[in-house]
Amino acid sequence: MKIEEVKSTTKTQRIASHSHVKGLGLNEEGTAVAVASGMVGQENAREAAGVVVELIKTKKMAGRAVLLAGPPGTGKTAISLAISSELGPKVPFCPMVGSEVYSTEVKKTEILMENFRRAIGLKIKETKEVWEGEVTELKTEEREEAQGYGKIVSSVIVTLKTSKGTKQLKLDPSIYENMQREKVSVGDVIYIEASSGNVKRVGRCDAYASEYDLEAEEYVPLPKGDVHKKKEIVQDITLHDLDVANARPQHGQDFVSLMGQIMKPKKTEITEKLRQQINQIVNKYIDQGIAELVPGVLFIDEVHMLDIECFTYLNRALESTLAPIVILATNRGMCTIRGTDIVSPHGIPIDLLDRLLIIKTVPYGLEDLIKILAIRASTESIKLSTEALSFLGQVGSSSSLRYAVQLLTPASVLAQTEGRTEITKEDIEVINKLFLDAKSSAKLLNEQAEKYIS
Ligand code: ATP
Repeated sequence: MKIEEVKSTTKTQRIASHSHVKGLGLNEEGTAVAVASGMVGQENAREAAGVVVELIKTKKMAGRAVLLAGPPGTGKTAISLAISSELGPKVPFCPMVGSEVYSTEVKKTEILMENFRRAIGLKIKETKEVWEGEVTELKTEEREEAQGYGKIVSSVIVTLKTSKGTKQLKLDPSIYENMQREKVSVGDVIYIEASSGNVKRVGRCDAYASEYDLEAEEYVPLPKGDVHKKKEIVQDITLHDLDVANARPQHGQDFVSLMGQIMKPKKTEITEKLRQQINQIVNKYIDQGIAELVPGVLFIDEVHMLDIECFTYLNRALESTLAPIVILATNRGMCTIRGTDIVSPHGIPIDLLDRLLIIKTVPYGLEDLIKILAIRASTESIKLSTEALSFLGQVGSSSSLRYAVQLLTPASVLAQTEGRTEITKEDIEVINKLFLDAKSSAKLLNEQAEKYIS
């Protein structure tokens, strides 16, 4: 399908390390179960996140956002992803880092806008229909194009005789051109293909000597006799997918390219105007019941990296009717707001702070670290001895959880090259000596400062 082509892989990879997270792991009373849905510990934050999910579901989050505040590696991304899973299976999750907005080519607010639109999903219910029958009448309606320029065809009315009765359809002039090319005239047996009520294609059946198979979406020889076929197609896409699809010329037959035909072809850039046009069409489809809005989660890590311009934009964007749930994360306390000399909690302006529900995350104890590492290992189908697991837990508590998680794959490669299926404590020791975690690297740089160019 076309949509898949435009999906960014960086975002997928960023979520991959959290693939074990299936939800917040709360019981019916909203209390955190120690280990559930792939989540371990961090009970208070998970329960607070559960309240946020309730607020979202009861539509009480409009104009507000969430801030997760806590040291690195305390599961802020994991909890945000869990919130989006709790909201439903096809809810988009778009993670980004504050510093991503600084690019020499693209405006900061443009990058924020793009990520906002990645986090807004649409469920599109398209109905595809095909009629087959003999043309008994072909009438064109004409209208004056402009004074002195003569008349042009404004629509075509086709009457079809099918085995189940007569069917009359009004077609667009562009479809008429298509019919003329195929030399369709009275007496011919033709098919008419429509998508959500819009006729997309007309052609002669004898050119194919077969029927349209909606399941296979192609012409295959089928026994004659079925004159009307209908199929419902549900597609899940994001507003960003629509932006990308419509910024390029399209020739397909689906909803996305239908919109592509409405827009001017040969566009290569996503402009503000294009987005507005898409919003208009999306709103129209929502009103008609063809599309349904699925607000997702936009996760902005290291939010203190954003500057005052971005914060102003965020404030405004939160008010929009087409807004996702915004979850911010930071590990900073009091610091200056970028682009100003104002010191503020988490480096966030007060007017935005006022809109935030703040959730605190705390560092994990050794036991929780070991449990998380065990879950990660089993998700990646990696086997560790008990000794190796508890040693890896210790490595995690003296460096960071993320570092410990990252050692799993190289350690398993090492074990494999030595013909073992299970990682031993020694494997972890070897790998741990080969690589440096951030803290040891900083320590080494300090000790050997004179050897490095500064
Ligand atoms: P932060 O955003 O606070 O830095 P994070 O969610 O990005 O934290 P990492 O530091 O990447 O977490 O955590 C390493 C791994 O541990 C990830 O795979 C993450 O999913 C997992 N993890 C973190 N916290 C939990 C938890 N409470 N339960 C289960 N897995 C967790």
